[in-house]
Amino acid sequence: MKTGIHHLYIPGPTNVPEAVRRAMNVTMQDHRAPDFPELTLGLFADLKQVFRTKAGEVMLFPGSGTAAWEAAITNTLSPGDRVLIARHGQFSTLWAQMAERLGLVVDIVDVAWGAGCPANEFARRLGADRKGEIRAVFVTHNETATGVTSDIRAVRRAIDECFHDAMLFVDGVSSIGSIDFRMDDWGVDVAIAGSQKGLMCPAGLGVLAVSPKALLASRTATMRRAYFEFDDMLKLNAEGYFPYTPPVPLLHGLRAGLDRLLDEGLDAVHARHRRLAEGVRKAVAAWGMDLVAEHRSLYSDTVTAIRVHPDVDAREVIRIGYDRYNTAFGAGLARLSGKVFRIGHLGDMNEGMCLTALAVAEMALAEAGARIDYGSGIAAAQRHYAATRTRTAELRIAAE
Ligand SMILES: *Cc1c(COP(=O)(O)O)cnc(C)c1O
Repeated sequence: MKTGIHHLYIPGPTNVPEAVRRAMNVTMQDHRAPDFPELTLGLFADLKQVFRTKAGEVMLFPGSGTAAWEAAITNTLSPGDRVLIARHGQFSTLWAQMAERLGLVVDIVDVAWGAGCPANEFARRLGADRKGEIRAVFVTHNETATGVTSDIRAVRRAIDECFHDAMLFVDGVSSIGSIDFRMDDWGVDVAIAGSQKGLMCPAGLGVLAVSPKALLASRTATMRRAYFEFDDMLKLNAEGYFPYTPPVPLLHGLRAGLDRLLDEGLDAVHARHRRLAEGVRKAVAAWGMDLVAEHRSLYSDTVTAIRVHPDVDAREVIRIGYDRYNTAFGAGLARLSGKVFRIGHLGDMNEGMCLTALAVAEMALAEAGARIDYGSGIAAAQRHYAATRTRTAELRIAAE
C-alpha cells in the first residue's frame, strides 16, 4: 500500500488546487437555465485575459487539447490547403500527423528534438512561396516532450517580413497560463490550450482563442466539421449557452482556476514559473546532467526534460520514483524513451514541491545506477530559491 500524498510531476494533468476540486463538487444543474450565463460569460471574458486577446473569441469544446487542434484545423482550412510546421518533439509530430490525416498538404521542417521552431527556415519557405499557397503556419509554443519554448514573436516577424498572408496557429497547451503568451501582440490567429495544464483543472476542455482573421477564414473553409463547428458554438456562446451539454462541474473548476490565476496576476504567475524552473535547472546542472533543450534561450519554464547518462535507463528512474516513492515523473516520449525523464513544474506549484521532486529524483537516479551526490541538486535549487526571494514576493505573502 502507498501512504502519504501522491506527488505529481508530469506536465499534465497538473496538480488540481483544493479550491478547484471543491468548486467542481456541485449538484448537477440545468445548462439552459436563465442564470447559467452568469457562470459562462465570465469564463469567456477571463479566458481572453489569459490569452491576452481583446480582438479574438474564446471557445470551450468538450475534449482535450487534441480536440482543440482538430477544431482549429477543420474550421479554418480546406482539404488540400498547404500548411507549414516544424517537427521537433512528440507534440509537434502528432499535430503534423493530424494535419495530414485531415487532408492538408503539410510542409514539414524536421529539426533536432531539443531545437526550437526554426523561424529563419520558415522565413525562407514563406519567402519562396510566391503564390501564397501556404495558408497557415503551425507552431508548438512549448514542446512538452523536449522542454523547449519557441519564440512566437520571431515566427510572426518571419511571416510579416515576407508580406505573407498565412494564418499563425499556436499550440499553447503547456504554456498558456504559465508562460508569457500574447495572442494579439504576436498576431496569433488560433491559440490552443487545454484545461489540465496551466489552467489547473482536470482534462476535459479544449480551449481555443480565434482571431477575427481566422473567423473570417472559417466562413469559406470547406473542411468537414460538425461537433466542432465554430459557428454553432459562437452563436450560443454569445448568450452564455452551448450547442450541446457542457461539462458543467468542469466549468465551475475552471472558474476557480481562473480566479487563482487572475488573483495572483499573470505576470506574477509567469515569474513564479520562471523562478521555480530555474531552480530545477540549477539542480540538473549540479547533477552534471544535460537538458534536452539545446540552448538556454529555449528552456521551458513549465517542464524540464533531463537526459540521463547512457548507462542509466530513464524508464527505471521513472519506475522507481513511482513504485518506491509514490511520485510520478514524465516519461521520455517516442525516440527519447529510456534516455530522458521529465519533471513537470507548472500550475499549482511552489518551492517545496519542486524540492520534493528533486529529492525523489536524486533517490530514483541513484537507485537506477546514476552517480549522484545526495543533496547536490536540492542544495543548488535551495540556494537559487533563497537568493531570488524578492521583497515584493515577501510583501505579497504578508498581505495574504
Ligand atoms: C498536452 C499537450 C497537448 C494535448 O494533449 P491532450 O492530451 O489532447 O490534452 C498538445 N500539445 C501540447 C504541447 C501538450 O503539452
